Amino acid sequence: MELSGQDDLVRPCRIKGILHAHSRWTDGAHSLASMVETAREIGLEYLGISDHFLSSAHQEGMDIDAAAVQLAEIQRLRDLYPDFDLLQGIEIDANPDGGLPLADDVLGRFDYVIVAFPENGGYDPDTFTGQVAQVARQPRVTILSRPLGDLMLRKENGVLDMETVLHAAAEGRTVIEVTANPTGNKLDWSNCHLAQELGVLMAISPDAHRAARLVDFRHGAELAREAGLRCSSVLNTFSSEELREYLNNS
Ligand SMILES: [Zn+2]
Repeated sequence: MELSGQDDLVRPCRIKGILHAHSRWTDGAHSLASMVETAREIGLEYLGISDHFLSSAHQEGMDIDAAAVQLAEIQRLRDLYPDFDLLQGIEIDANPDGGLPLADDVLGRFDYVIVAFPENGGYDPDTFTGQVAQVARQPRVTILSRPLGDLMLRKENGVLDMETVLHAAAEGRTVIEVTANPTGNKLDWSNCHLAQELGVLMAISPDAHRAARLVDFRHGAELAREAGLRCSSVLNTFSSEELREYLNNS
């Protein structure tokens, strides 16, 4: 997959799927079936549903039993749409010390694991950087989510040493999610360029809580293209087979 030059720059039509979306199983507005139907309608090959695991911040989250029932529904939808891959991810919150709230064998039941950092506001920069880097090094962690993408794209983020985080992500083969939210400050892509140099993959994700938001990846991909990010650095440009292979080996 060694490509270079203009043709390899990411663009909306190169995005094959979405890996961060929520359904009515937790705090999403729409059913799993509606999310899948919309993803298919907008031309995606796969959708990863990453509903929240139960936590103090997500009381609506699923427990292990609910996740097992959700998996049965996912399997039913896989059978209904054999040309479309539906993945069962899980979104969990990192512990303040950089640990994870679930054991490895539980995390291993999901196709991939997204970790979010909901409490960063109260930490000093060193503590927060240490927490994120610790999470990034863990093999079970697939994607680092909020607020990493926003901090990646903010020139002076003031709370996170992104270089340290990116080196840890390279070590743990952990993907960093770029939400490319168009609101707010002027975006600075230099950290994304560093990620690209270090071989750290990024995922362009809408964190869609409703079906209509799935298409937001297009805006992120346009911005990423202008910034010079290549498809080979963006996990969700992988085909569904390449993605499965990546997930099985990481
Ligand atoms: Zn989410």
